[in-house]
Parts: sequence; structure tokens; C-alpha cells
Amino acid sequence: MKIERREKPEFYTPTYEMALKQFDIAAEKLNLDPNVTERLRAPKRALIVNVPIRMDNGTVKVFQGYRVQHSMVLGPAKGGTRYHQDVNLGEVTALAMWMSWKSALIGLPLGGAKGGIRCNPKEMSRAELQRLTRRYATEIFPLIGPERDIPGPDVGTNEQIMAWLMDTYSMQVGYSVPGIATGKPVSIGGSLGRFEATGRGVVYATEEAAKKLSINLNGASVVIQGFGNVGYVAAKILSEIGCKVIAVSNSKGGIYNKNGLDIKRLYEFSKDNPVLSEGKYGDNITNQELLELKCDILIPAALSAQITGDNAKRITCRILAEGANGPTTPEADQILIDKGIFLIPDILANSGGVTVSYFEWVQDLQNFFWKEKEINEKLKDIIVGAFNNMMILTEKEKVGSRTAALMMGIKKIAEAMLIRGLYP
Ligand code: GLU
Repeated sequence: MKIERREKPEFYTPTYEMALKQFDIAAEKLNLDPNVTERLRAPKRALIVNVPIRMDNGTVKVFQGYRVQHSMVLGPAKGGTRYHQDVNLGEVTALAMWMSWKSALIGLPLGGAKGGIRCNPKEMSRAELQRLTRRYATEIFPLIGPERDIPGPDVGTNEQIMAWLMDTYSMQVGYSVPGIATGKPVSIGGSLGRFEATGRGVVYATEEAAKKLSINLNGASVVIQGFGNVGYVAAKILSEIGCKVIAVSNSKGGIYNKNGLDIKRLYEFSKDNPVLSEGKYGDNITNQELLELKCDILIPAALSAQITGDNAKRITCRILAEGANGPTTPEADQILIDKGIFLIPDILANSGGVTVSYFEWVQDLQNFFWKEKEINEKLKDIIVGAFNNMMILTEKEKVGSRTAALMMGIKKIAEAMLIRGLYP
């Protein structure tokens, strides 16, 4: 049966187009039912909200916010909340779609969602951020809930923001609902190990890739773009296990030291000093120069579309572990495959975050909390298992690792859709 492809939606932005290109390649390889393909190319629902707040100077400013639920076939939707000046509906939709594939790939009983507000949190006071978060939580209230859609953190949000979100929801319903959000402080139902989870997961996946390529991590050179929750934790753990982290960066630029950086000192310095180079721990470099440094392991852990058709030919790492969501464009993907660079795709490499978010939600629902050791062991098990299954599929299907990982996630969702049937 032929199915008509719908027109390009109004939120057709470069990031969404990128997510669609990746999806189309995997869907074709899976020989997916065209009805399922068409349904999965767009989100189940998307909400745009107006978020007016009073600024500290007395004026009222209106921000635009979003919550997009891409798929809820396997369970409640799950995904982070991004506060960034470039957030738009297309980007949030792409990120929601990636959440669906990610959760399915690693076997979580969850769907995919994402939220965000177009704002610059670095320029806002704590009080403004609190009002923004509380009003946003109120506006997306009709969509979220511990049994339907559970927000977590993402770029520009943190434990405090998740605490305000949880508190606002709880105030609306009249009792405490810890399971409404993840990435919360431990004191209100957060999980041990959640803060480190994404970076730790990147390390577990990198260890598996290094084994596969016979790279000795002791002394291996590492370059990391981004020094936030993902980049910093990955840098810290990798340097603890003997890697030499030679360059890191944040949105203001990066630093390079061929002898290796002292990550803990640099992190302490970065807390009060946004410009890393001012600490004189290494030479000044730009984010673009950083990506092209010769190294064993490159970890983009910032924003999307950093490795593109333009710079991919100059990337010289052996392992590319995608800590960020969507850091590599489809044009760059092909160039990297031709160069023989081993890719750990985002939906696997950074899946540690949502995995421990899932653990947090489960602990909240059962009111019973686990030890950190237990959490890290379960996390490792999931990531190593998914990595090995992905490797088997790359060989069986003769596809790159991104396509293999996508195929694993998409197949699970497609099977569930077909067996559930079309309503009504
Ligand atoms: N923002 C993270 C991601 O992109 C985690 C989302 C969550 O914990 O819900 O996977």
C-alpha cells in the first residue's frame, strides 16, 4: 500500500532535518512498514507555551517554551528540559525523537520527549530562573505527569531547576510527587549517581570501544568539547583511569596542554571563571581548533552540528564518543566512516543520563532507594549490553554504528506500534 508523505511541517529546521535523515536511512534498512515510517517522522504531540515572568527590574518579559512528545508507545515519555537562547520547535522535536530511539535502544520502557525554553539562563538571576521554571511547569502541566511524561535536565538546567519543577507540580496537585521529574537533588527523591550518569556512561562506552580497537586507555589522549555536566564528569573519570585529557572547552573557548590538564583544579577554577584560558593551565584554542586536534578519543559534549561536512575531513581521532545529542551531521557521518573513525553514536554514548533518570523514577515510584554501587553496576550492564548488540548488528547488516543503533531503537518501537494496532 502506498502512503502519501505529508508536506514539510512548519518546524522543519536544520536539526530536525538531520534527525529525519538519520531516521530515513535506518527505516529503509529495516524495511519499515511505510505507515509506521510516516507516523514516526513527526511527533505525537507538541505544545508551545507562552511563559511570561516578572524580571528583577520590574518589567514583564515573555519567553517561548515547548514540550514535545515524540512517541509514547513503549511507556511514558521521558526527556530533558533545555534552557538556551537558540531553542526552537524544530530542535526540541529532533531532541524528542532522539530520546525515543535512545530509550528503546537501551531497553527502557519509556517513550521520547523533550522540552525547552528559548532564554539565556546565564544572563538571568536565580529568582528569575525560579519564576521562569514555575510558570513553565504550570503551562506544560496538562501534558506532564509521573505516568505520562517525566521531564529531566538537559543543557542549561540543573538539580535546582528540577526541584522547582517538582515542587510546582506537587503544589498544583496538593501532595508531593517525586516521580514527576528526574535529575532532582537526592534530598527530595533524586538518585545517587544521577549527576555523574551521562559522563560515566560515556566512559563505559568508550572503554568498550577501546577494547575493540585494542587501544590502551592508560596514556590515551582525550579531547573534550564542553565542560558541563557531561564533559566535566567524562574528563574527570577518564583522567582518573589514566587517560591524558589534553584539551577541554566551554562556550567561551578552550584550552590545550599537550602534557594533560589537571581536571579537578580546572573545574574548581571554572566555577567562578567562565573563561577557561584565564587560568593559564594551557594554551588558548577555539572550539573549532579543539575538534581538529590529533587525539585518540574525541568527545563532543556540547551542542549539535559541531562536526559537519566542512570540518569532518580534518578530524583525526580514533574514537568519536558523542556525549552531546546530534553533534555530527549526516554529511560528516559518511566522511568519518570513510576515514575509519570509530563512532559511538549519541543515542548510545550519552544514554547513561536517561538510564539513571529511569532508575530515579523507578525508585521514586516504589519509595525505595538503591546504593550508588548498585546504580553504577546496573548502568554499566545496560551500556555494555547495548554496545555489544550494536556491534553485532553493524557486522550483520554491514552498516555504520549510528545506523545500527538507530535500527535497534526504531525496530522496538515499530514492533510495538504494529502489535498495538491503529486506534480507533
Ligand atoms: N537530557 C538527557 C538526554 O538527552 C537526559 C534526559 C532525562 O534524564 O530525561 O538524554
